[in-house]
Amino acid sequence: MSDANCVPSVIIDPRYCKGCGLCVAVCPYSVLEMSSKLTEKGYNIAEVHQPEACVRCHKCVLICPDLAIDVVDKNDSQPSDSTDQAPQEVAEE
Ligand code: SF4
Ligand code: SF4
Repeated sequence: MSDANCVPSVIIDPRYCKGCGLCVAVCPYSVLEMSSKLTEKGYNIAEVHQPEACVRCHKCVLICPDLAIDVVDKNDSQPSDSTDQAPQEVAEE
């Protein structure tokens, strides 16, 4: 069985993430964690650690003060709460 059409259920846009950690704290299933990777602005970014554990409750989307998170349905190319722009690469520390 192919997963070629599947997309990550949680997408974090490093252009907007300022590394506050609220999404990591609020996620009830430890899907997210803080990364050692830095954004262009020098913030540690949150990243998706266990995507398979996400239940799409949207708590992370609601709590993020910078609208940096989208939650999408698998096999769906359109984010449920779009920020219009695709995520970018982040710099390694
Ligand atoms: S809540 Fe938003 S700004 Fe804060 S770490 Fe998570 S994605 Fe980044
Ligand atoms: S949608 Fe819910 S389960 Fe999925 S990462 Fe966000 S807070 Fe965690």
